[in-house]
Amino acid sequence: MTTYVRILATTTAAVAVLGATLAGCADGAGKAVTSGSSAARAAATSSPGAVKGPPTLAPGPGGLTPVFKRGNPAAGKTVALTFDADMTADQGTRAARGERFDNPSLIALLRRLEVPSTVFMTGRWAEEYPTQAKAIGEDPLFEIANHSYSHYAFTADCYGLPRVGETKMNEDVQRAFTAFDEAGARNVVPYFRFPGGCYDDAALRALAPSKVTAVQWDVVSGDAFATDAEAVAQQVLEGVKPGSLVVMHCTRSAAPVTEDAVQQIVPELRKQGYRFVKVSELMSH
Ligand SMILES: [Zn+2]
Repeated sequence: MTTYVRILATTTAAVAVLGATLAGCADGAGKAVTSGSSAARAAATSSPGAVKGPPTLAPGPGGLTPVFKRGNPAAGKTVALTFDADMTADQGTRAARGERFDNPSLIALLRRLEVPSTVFMTGRWAEEYPTQAKAIGEDPLFEIANHSYSHYAFTADCYGLPRVGETKMNEDVQRAFTAFDEAGARNVVPYFRFPGGCYDDAALRALAPSKVTAVQWDVVSGDAFATDAEAVAQQVLEGVKPGSLVVMHCTRSAAPVTEDAVQQIVPELRKQGYRFVKVSELMSH
């Protein structure tokens, strides 16, 4: 795939450092210096060029944020399960009342089944569940990608989500990277998923400074607010093709049957000869 470019870890580090710098603007300059990022630390401890960072796509025309729109057929019989760890900036009070936006037993299942996966995490989620964010980010089975800080929409009319102003979009993404870093999460990749998958050229332009690759999907699991695990599993099994990218959720609150669906999906796809990969591997083909 000639449009794919590989970047060095230093680029990832630059993204994360930018996040730390922005946090510094809000929280005091000292923090920007001491906060650093796991990616920056990784880059600092490896010899230049020795470690390649995750692949990203080249920017679009006029420097627009590139979009990995769907699965990659060139990746052969592979499939990437992705899990959105949603939590909206204003859901803190609901979490305080006991609503669970995390799903530790889903993560445990992915570990038990040894399914490499990409978790698109909101910064708000990492703040609410820092221990889990750290554990996910320390496990080489997983990679953490950015699903915004606030889970607000980046366009108008996106599933009724509150909207991020254009001038705040880049800051929102950087704030999520900072939240991952503050939780101590490693394995953070420079991928971004728009809340609701909603984007337009204005959003892609606004995010250009963040140097992320936006990631969409080609298979909707339908696990959001689903009550029938079998129906979710069936929808995924019917939709998956070689190189597919599946969107699911890692939050009990809004996706209560995902774990049961994964339990059905994984052995069946393996029986069909599929191998599970992270988005970074899918993109590398
Ligand atoms: Zn989401």
